[in-house]
Amino acid sequence: MDTELTITAVLRRAEQFSPRREVVSREPDRSLHRSDWAGVGRRARRLASALQGFHLAPDTRVASLCWSHRQHLELYYGVPMAGLVLHPLNPRLHHEDIAWIATHARDAVLFVDASFLPLLEHLRATADGVPFDRVVVIGGSGDAHAGAVDYEELLATGEEQWTPAEIDEHATALLGYTSGTTGRPKGVEVSHRALVLHALSSSLQGWLGLRDEDVVMPVVPMYHALAWGWPYTSALLGAGLVLPGPFLDAASLLELIEDEQVTMTGGVPTVWTSVLRELDAAPGKHDVSRLRAILSGGSTAPPTMIEGFRDRHGLTVVHTWGMTELIMGLIAEPGVQERALPPGELESVRHSQGRPLPLLEIRARAEDVEVPWDATTLGELEIRGPWVAREYLEAPEASAEQWTADGWFRTGDIVTIDPRGWVRIADRAKDVVKSGGEWISTPALENAILAHPAVAEAAVIGVVDEKWGERPLALVVTHPDRRVTPEELRAFIAPSVARWWLPERITLVEAIPKTAVGKIDKRGLRATYAPIGDP
Ligand code: ADP
Repeated sequence: MDTELTITAVLRRAEQFSPRREVVSREPDRSLHRSDWAGVGRRARRLASALQGFHLAPDTRVASLCWSHRQHLELYYGVPMAGLVLHPLNPRLHHEDIAWIATHARDAVLFVDASFLPLLEHLRATADGVPFDRVVVIGGSGDAHAGAVDYEELLATGEEQWTPAEIDEHATALLGYTSGTTGRPKGVEVSHRALVLHALSSSLQGWLGLRDEDVVMPVVPMYHALAWGWPYTSALLGAGLVLPGPFLDAASLLELIEDEQVTMTGGVPTVWTSVLRELDAAPGKHDVSRLRAILSGGSTAPPTMIEGFRDRHGLTVVHTWGMTELIMGLIAEPGVQERALPPGELESVRHSQGRPLPLLEIRARAEDVEVPWDATTLGELEIRGPWVAREYLEAPEASAEQWTADGWFRTGDIVTIDPRGWVRIADRAKDVVKSGGEWISTPALENAILAHPAVAEAAVIGVVDEKWGERPLALVVTHPDRRVTPEELRAFIAPSVARWWLPERITLVEAIPKTAVGKIDKRGLRATYAPIGDP
């Protein structure tokens, strides 16, 4: 039978079979709101039916400017069920970029957290302005914003038993934009079908192996890479869900992990580095024994971090790779073949970015030729599969660049693939240092530096060099009470990297800037440091 794979079917599954599994959400006043999948279903249906009163054309885009919380979850279901497209906007981007993205997407409606109303004023004042015909305020005092509708009042006009019309699984459910780490943000439409297949594949036994007894907490925000699809995966499996609201600091996260008995969580490495620091500072203070996996993705997880969690706190970090264009793509969950490997090799598998999720296919190419899976030859990773985007929204030039003529998506990541299909990312094509015609992997240099006990953070970028074209510049932040000199660091990493990789310049800095999604801002660093020229 060709039954449609839709978000409605995912919600119905949770409502019918796991109605009492808890959904916990941190409120702006730090208190916890407790509901369950039945409650989420009732309110999402109310929302979807209330949206009918807006008389929007099918596929109209509805933006959100929200933290990860219960109302955002209701939007994740209610908007696609109403035949509309939810477009989560990233509030941490510069307001000019947010306005540009909303205008490009022609978002007709905005759901906004009351705490972001000042940001909305900034958006209105930009050159692009905002395209929203209607604004709905979440958590406001009711009359907080002229011309806006209050979210609870809107919901009150809906019906909680509402049954949505049958939706074509190929219809777009969500729209996300790349965070623009390497250029102008680009829009990616995600269909109902893509979301359902992604949720199934990423939760299979042997991958995340999610079960209904799990309690998952996405720290990756609902406005970035769709929170890795966890708002849907958790419902499909009937797992508990914890949404951290605006409080993403290490202490708040650890409190939730402990109190809500979270079994699986995920986010970018900078978050886990700070959580590790908090755990190290007060060993034994937090009971995190229920946590069976911390997923780390978005940029390279430093091996020292993975080992720090394991050795000092008995916690497993699972490295994962993904991007806006495909949500989750690779997971480094060792299989039966890998668990039989000698310890050193098993470790190297855990440090890799992993293998593709079932139903995804990979290859790597250099100069238009496929490279062998020999663990050494570098090529650009290409990927295809049922939830990989087909093109960017209304960006034909960028799309022509990023998709090959034979239909593969070019990730822009330079990788090796080993004979069993494990992928190791050497660097992003735009970040790699090109020295004398050879490539230097910046994450590899960073990881070598991070292994020094005095180092808290490290970032390597390429700077222009007359002789070599480019040379690496390392920026290093030390732990508050530790000292190390550039010479000591150079001597420390010398045994672990090629001679010609050794950076002539290692600069100690106070802080390393991060992007709106918490990654090291290499583009910003290049703008600041690259004009310095040769050392
Ligand atoms: P942006 O492209 O704006 O940064 P994304 O969040 O979609 O937005 O980033 C995707 C990119 O993040 C990937 O192409 C890759 O370079 C990087 N990335 C994601 N996960 C990992 C990982 N585990 N290791 C190294 N790089 C990663």
